[in-house]
Amino acid sequence: MRIYNFAAGPATLPLEVLEQARDELLDWRDGGMSVMEVSHRSKAFVRVAEQAESDLRELLAVPDGYKVLFLQGGATGQFSAIPLNLAGPDATADYLNTGQWSKKAIGEARRYLNVKVVADEKDSNYTTVPLAANLAFTAAAAYVHYTPNETIGGVEFPYVPETGGVPLVADMSSTILSRPIDVARFGLIYAGAQKNIGPSGLTVVIVRDDLVGRARELTPTVFDYQAMVEAGSMLNTPPTFGWYVAGLVFQWLKRQGGLAAMERHNRAKAARLYDAIDASPYYGNPVDPVCRSWMNVPFTIAKPELEKTFVAEAAAEGLANLEGHRSVGGMRASLYNAMTMEGVEALTAFMAEFERRYG
Ligand code: PMP
Repeated sequence: MRIYNFAAGPATLPLEVLEQARDELLDWRDGGMSVMEVSHRSKAFVRVAEQAESDLRELLAVPDGYKVLFLQGGATGQFSAIPLNLAGPDATADYLNTGQWSKKAIGEARRYLNVKVVADEKDSNYTTVPLAANLAFTAAAAYVHYTPNETIGGVEFPYVPETGGVPLVADMSSTILSRPIDVARFGLIYAGAQKNIGPSGLTVVIVRDDLVGRARELTPTVFDYQAMVEAGSMLNTPPTFGWYVAGLVFQWLKRQGGLAAMERHNRAKAARLYDAIDASPYYGNPVDPVCRSWMNVPFTIAKPELEKTFVAEAAAEGLANLEGHRSVGGMRASLYNAMTMEGVEALTAFMAEFERRYG
């Protein structure tokens, strides 16, 4: 039986995609073996890889002049790869700190260059983002880095920062493909796959051509964008199964109507859950309403001593993985593309019933 999986990542995947992967697992394309067992250099797999890239480009309307890479090392690997590829050791990069994932990116970047934290939302306990008008960037910065959606805090930027020509780098791990974006605003976009793209183990990087070919000499070759571009992301063995499943997810997204349809779907799901939270004094969400995440919704209950009961009873009803991140507690429901409105409605119905019994 399938449950509703509200995990933050690895996260729920579209049922149709899982069924297709299952149906062709043992005998992929009449080859008598699974896609996991074929060479990444075989014609059949190269076709999968190329189709996935072309579908991703179509979904995101990636303009000419950008490379799309399918890498390993997670978003965390990119925390290092970005400074190593985009700047020398004496350079300065601007970072916005809006929560735990920005902080991790900052910590890693500090090992490689001068980090200037140009905005830090700690006074709000990371429940908001800086006002666009308050942002001032270093004119000579190598790049500006930010986290459009903080997966743990449930805080999302309602705008794209205007950097005045400095390349903008975005960790889109938990928001990519949730709605259309204007890729031309960004110098580099990266995302771990395990939320809206596919299984863990794959990292997508979309990078503007002028930012490729500048890696420091000591950059590990697997993290050197130029080397990976030249090799079609196959400098070494790529995560073939993850790439294949990502390709199935991209085709599923196209069948759903693309990212404009996803935007409507995701906006409606998030509104349904926030409305339920706001309608009752029993539930709370601390995030500034203008930057509440559509993808990750943290919430509290009036009696925190009942959190474990809430999570356990929800799980018993097929609503899984609602505990908040271990660092913040409370609850969190992640509503990625593959989460259905029925799942959200089952959750809000459970919340109402829990409040009736324990409120
Ligand atoms: N950035 C964000 C916004 C994330 O949500 C995560 C993972 N939850 C990471 C970075 C780290 O990703 P990975 O585990 O792929 O390194």
